[in-house]
Amino acid sequence: CGIVGYTGFSQAKNVLIDGLKRLEYRGYDSAGIALERQSASATELDVHRRVGKVAGLESELEHVDTASTCGIGHTRWATHGRPSVANAHPHTSCDGRIAVVHNGIIENFAELREELERRGHRFTSDTDTEVFAHLIEEAYEGRPADPATGEPAQPGSHDLMAAVREATTHVVGAYGLAALCADEPGVIAVARKDSPIIIGRGEDGSYVASDVIAVIDATRDVVVLEDGQFARLTPEGITYTDAEGTAIEPAITHIDWDI
Ligand code: GLU
Repeated sequence: CGIVGYTGFSQAKNVLIDGLKRLEYRGYDSAGIALERQSASATELDVHRRVGKVAGLESELEHVDTASTCGIGHTRWATHGRPSVANAHPHTSCDGRIAVVHNGIIENFAELREELERRGHRFTSDTDTEVFAHLIEEAYEGRPADPATGEPAQPGSHDLMAAVREATTHVVGAYGLAALCADEPGVIAVARKDSPIIIGRGEDGSYVASDVIAVIDATRDVVVLEDGQFARLTPEGITYTDAEGTAIEPAITHIDWDI
C-alpha cells in the first residue's frame, strides 16, 4: 500500500516513521521498517514489524537506539495472506541480508514460490511479496542447477540493482518495489510496474516513496518513475536505468502545490 525509503546523512528511523504517517490516509493493516545496522565487522539489517497503527511501530522503536542512515518502510494493505506480523513487510531473504517492501500483486507467485522452494528457499510468510526477496537473493548470490527443469546453475551478479532487474524478469504482476542489501550499505534499489513510485533528492539524502506526500518536506523536485525504469539511490545521488541496465535520465517534475 505505502512505501517510503531513505538513504542519506540523517537518522533514517525518523524519516521513515514520518513518511509512513503521511501515507496513513490510504488505509493499511500493518506497518514495518528495515534499517541498516553497522556492527563491529559488518552491516546487518534489522526488521521491525507491527500489526496496526504506525504509532505502535513508532513506540516500539522509541527504545531502539539507532544511528542508521539507510532504511525502507511500508504500510500494508493485505492482498495475499492475512494481516499478521509474519506477513507484514519488509520481507527478507533466507540469509536476512536482503529486505524488500512491495506494493501491488505478483500474479505468478505460487509457481515462483514452488520453484524457489524446490531450490531450497524457505518461506516465512503467506504473501506474494516474499518471492521477490528470494528471487533477488538468487540473482545476487547465484542459483544452483535445477534438476527438475534441467536449468543449469547461474552465477550471482553481486550487484543489488542488477539483481533487482533480473528478479523482475521472472515476475508477472504489479509492483512498486524498494530493496536493501546488507552487502551494499547505503544503497536502495527501486523498480516499478503499474504501481506508483516517486524519487527525490533532498539536501540530506535520497528519497523514494509511493506518494509524493511522503517526501514533500524534503524535496519538491521529483522523478515520477515509469514502468520498466529502475533507480539506485545512495546518500550522494541517484542513478536511473532501463530494463537492460542502460543509464537513462528521466524528466524531473516540480511539485508546486501546497499541502
Ligand atoms: N500483495 C502484497 C501483500 O499482500 C502487498 C500489498 C500492498 O500493496 O500493501 O503483502
